[in-house]
Amino acid sequence: MNFQVLLYYQYTTIEDPEQFAKEHLAFCQSLHLKGRILVANEGINGTLSGTVEETNQYMEMMLADERFKDTFFKVDTADEHAFKKLFVRPRQELVALNLEDDIDPLALTGKYLDPEAFREALIDENTIVLDARNDYEYDLGHFRGAVRPDIRNFRELPQWIRENKEQFMDKKVVTYCTGGIRCEKFSGWLLREGFEDVGQLHGGIANYGRDPKTMGEYWDGKMYVFDERISVEINQVDKQIIGKDWFDGTPCERYINCANPYCNRQILASEENEEKHLGGCSVECSQHPANRYMQTHHLSEEEVTERLAQLTK
Ligand SMILES: [Zn+2]
Repeated sequence: MNFQVLLYYQYTTIEDPEQFAKEHLAFCQSLHLKGRILVANEGINGTLSGTVEETNQYMEMMLADERFKDTFFKVDTADEHAFKKLFVRPRQELVALNLEDDIDPLALTGKYLDPEAFREALIDENTIVLDARNDYEYDLGHFRGAVRPDIRNFRELPQWIRENKEQFMDKKVVTYCTGGIRCEKFSGWLLREGFEDVGQLHGGIANYGRDPKTMGEYWDGKMYVFDERISVEINQVDKQIIGKDWFDGTPCERYINCANPYCNRQILASEENEEKHLGGCSVECSQHPANRYMQTHHLSEEEVTERLAQLTK
């Protein structure tokens, strides 16, 4: 446990994102950190791994900077780096919601709920809890009773809300996401759309799972994360597996990418089913000439032919 994984963001003004990104990259390199940081005029969004000492140093330096003094770092312990490389990239915006007019969360955002208040909201009948993430994240784990918007990608959320507005209009609405950054804009947008009582889980699921008072209660499954760990545990009270194997629907929390590099779809699959299907999410993907499963698993042509015959018979 000599490493830490950091997840954080701060909406603030960064005058020259390109220049900032260059300097920040050098700074992170000096601390031997790995991970991914996005920098925009509207702020910073990052996730990093490194030794306890060096990640602590990073947080200290950030908090000493006027622009980042209020940054809320979500910290996980780990045995090793959670990333292979380090990227610091300038971007137009930190979070894309496909809006005609962007939202500035510093001016308009939902009220912050701490983990305890959020837990109350979860069991309140007059509150709708909305998952503000992508569908594959929801499918691996989510809060009990949370609404799963019928979308593939977070960007489609505003459109979906407009189409389903009637269901939520007279209720309190509370949103959550992994670390909180998506909800900052999304909850602000809900207010602008006319929703009156809008809250957001402060610090996201990542913070909720580490809160000593909630212990991750009412979270089912695992939380999808955007690093080499792929997923982490949240519920320390009464954990249930909700992920389902893509092929046979049995409980499963093991993520793989479809072995067809032109598909790459993320699916949950047992090792056994992955083998059987040569890592493909469909017969087409299993049979695809570019399927990489054969090479990565050192299969002979006979073995491949044999397995494909089983699949299509
Ligand atoms: Zn596929």
